[in-house]
Amino acid sequence: KVRVRFAPSPTGPLHMGGVRTALFNYLFARKHGGKFLLRIEDTDQTRYVPGAEDYIVEALKWCGITIDEGATVGGEYGPYRQSERKPMYREYAEKLIASGDAYYAFDTAEELDAIRNEYEAEKKTFTYNSETRDQLNNSLALSAEEVQAKLESGEAYVVRFKMPVNEELHLEDEIRKQVVFNTSALDDKVLFKSDGMPTYHLANVVDDYLMKISHVIRGEEWLPSMPLHVLLYKKLGWEAAMPKFAHLPLILKPVGKGKLSKRDGDKLGFPVFPLLWKDPKTQDISSGYREDGYFPEAFINMLAFLGWNPGTEKEIFSMEELSQVFSLERVGKSGSKFDPEKTKWFNRQYLMAKSDNEIGQLFTQEVLAKKGIEADQDKVNRICAMVKDRVDFIAELWDHVNFFFEAPQEFDAKTAKKSWKDDAPELMQELKTVLNGISDFTSANTEAIVKEWITAKEIGFGKIMNPFRLAMVGAGKGPHMFDIIELLGKEETLSRIDFACE
Ligand code: GLU
Repeated sequence: KVRVRFAPSPTGPLHMGGVRTALFNYLFARKHGGKFLLRIEDTDQTRYVPGAEDYIVEALKWCGITIDEGATVGGEYGPYRQSERKPMYREYAEKLIASGDAYYAFDTAEELDAIRNEYEAEKKTFTYNSETRDQLNNSLALSAEEVQAKLESGEAYVVRFKMPVNEELHLEDEIRKQVVFNTSALDDKVLFKSDGMPTYHLANVVDDYLMKISHVIRGEEWLPSMPLHVLLYKKLGWEAAMPKFAHLPLILKPVGKGKLSKRDGDKLGFPVFPLLWKDPKTQDISSGYREDGYFPEAFINMLAFLGWNPGTEKEIFSMEELSQVFSLERVGKSGSKFDPEKTKWFNRQYLMAKSDNEIGQLFTQEVLAKKGIEADQDKVNRICAMVKDRVDFIAELWDHVNFFFEAPQEFDAKTAKKSWKDDAPELMQELKTVLNGISDFTSANTEAIVKEWITAKEIGFGKIMNPFRLAMVGAGKGPHMFDIIELLGKEETLSRIDFACE
């Protein structure tokens, strides 16, 4: 049975890479009729950031990634917050000590610093590993009595994993296939601390086991931890329950080289977070896709393509469709470049796919309501429909349609110079009389009558239509003039002409 987990540490806002990990886990669970878990890995209290967990939960919700079991929804393998599972880990650390696969280390931070400095003086780097451990302050180097005495006197310790010497590990990764590690190149990671808190490695493996996780799908930065995690499964006697591992490729910067970092976003003009984030300490604000006006469907669709592809030309996938076609076989090994422009393109596709009604409603909620403008919904829908193919975002509609809601108070100087000649006031007053005489103010009818009148006057269309547009819009842009005045209505049209002539 497929059971996968997303296991973020609440050390800050979830970034795009994190959401992508959650998404791939979620899609994998859906595809296989399994369960998607949210586990909060908060064992490192020093890195805990208030608000981060709520942010993670809200971000997943916005994305449409629903949690089957986890911190906020409960489930039979709870609790799902590691800080609430604290008493569960000690026995496993002790079990590893008893079997000789882990040991107590009493080295203080000062002692380790001193050793590090000695190494540095000789241009070497110190690692706590099979080569150095026998000379350090730990239960491998001390006598049983000495260790006992230290423990009894309450001396602070950590429990370290005893990495086997020179073993070649051939491990299977679902994406990378075989990966080979030599244990001698790995260090003796801390598993447990005397304050009773496990470290990430122990808690992560114990919880994956107890929560019956079938597949560990996570970012490539965790690949170096895989040998330790596999060894922990083995040494704890859980080999039969070992999950399959899949390490997702990096997300790369849009320009230049390297991994997309949390700091790249605002610097380069695009969000790297799903939602806006206000840092509780510095009060710094980082932009988010939601607040920038992206549709969650577009954001998700873009993320799905960072590392995965369907193997066809099709690019637009709903969450439902992704759940059906997603597979780890189609996740690549190499990093994929994040493309902010493509993300806008996705947003536009989702915008264009919406009905005029939906677009109008969204525009009313997102823009008009915020500006305190009330307008007939049916009219708003028609207005938005006229210009929707010119924008990527709902909010951008405003610049194209603002004149429908607010009569122009100023006129674009450049346009005015070109279109408002000396005879304009006189011509506009004549036009006003013509329009005033029309009772059926629909676009087709006003167009027919006005054009007939211009033709009869034997002057160029521009002589009338250019100042007319300026009077209605305040600028030289906008949709078809007669569509505009149909929506403005006769009274407003005439009053704008008068205002422009003043
Ligand atoms: N807590 C780890 C993180 O923040 C989880 C890594 C894993 O999935 O094993 O990414």
